[in-house]
Amino acid sequence: MTAQLIDGNALARTLRADVAQRTAALKTRGVTPGLAVVLVGEDPASHVYVRNKVKACEANGLHSVLEKYPAELSEAELLARVDALNNDPTVHGILVQLPLPAHIDAQKVIEAIAPEKDVDGFHVASAGALLTGAPGFWPCTPYGCMKMLESIGCDLRGKHAVVIGRSNNVGKPMALMLLAKNATVTICHSATADLGAMTRQADVIVAAVGKRNVLTADMVKPGAVVIDVGMNRNDEGKLCGDVDFAGVREVAGWITPVPGGVGPMTITMLLVNTLEAAERSAG
Ligand code: NAP
Repeated sequence: MTAQLIDGNALARTLRADVAQRTAALKTRGVTPGLAVVLVGEDPASHVYVRNKVKACEANGLHSVLEKYPAELSEAELLARVDALNNDPTVHGILVQLPLPAHIDAQKVIEAIAPEKDVDGFHVASAGALLTGAPGFWPCTPYGCMKMLESIGCDLRGKHAVVIGRSNNVGKPMALMLLAKNATVTICHSATADLGAMTRQADVIVAAVGKRNVLTADMVKPGAVVIDVGMNRNDEGKLCGDVDFAGVREVAGWITPVPGGVGPMTITMLLVNTLEAAERSAG
């Protein structure tokens, strides 16, 4: 069997077209969805990420503000900027790009963002909302994975989903979202004794580890859906995921490629969350 591809670029285009349409509708009511992106320091990867986020906003009619600060910015100064953005009615979503310099307590800064503007979904109030099923913002990467599963008509009820990775931004929220859709969920991590024994039982596998070839063909049940969140470099320096794509695609039913899978969905869900924040504030 050769797996069908879940095309993240195509799905992202469809969802962004919907964002652009809803944004245009909101603008006729005098509200332009606005995202503020705050970047502290010179991390080159962070500069690329924020540039892409700002570009995606502009391409779909959202307003964006990019605030760049030197690495020496103090925690108090950053908290003051977040407070100002919390009180700015033209800003509906606030994203503080991580990682922050070591002298700044990142969690403290995230908790300073008003929950109704927490479009990254990292605030403890957003995490609590996801845990309890209350309205809130879902972290963009696992939210994008859920949209990918939805796009192929994957009914999760009664399915066994295995999530590899338990980070606060990907693995844990992913598991909660799958659980909310009535999957039976197993979470694996670096201390899992026999990863293959877990993944071989899975109808759906989400790999969010950050290591190449964590999932190989012998670890996958024929026909399973495989979502690869990982972003790594192979020996040639090319972007690759956590999954041995060439091997696993011969066993799985569906698989996401890297690049062109989860990556484009993450920014798309940031746009969706920002638009939703603006729609909520407009009533
Ligand atoms: P993270 O915070 O480093 O978490 C990695 C997780 O993998 C941890 O829970 C760790 O377990 C687990 N792990 C490590 N080695 C393992 C092994 N051999 N077997 C099973 N589990 C293992 O990373 P993250 O932020 O969740 O990101 C994961 C990957 O997704 C990275 O490659 C990242 O770049 C990528 N990512 C991509 C996007 C996107 O838009 N495409 C967005 C976010 C992240 P312990 O908890 O026991 O240490």
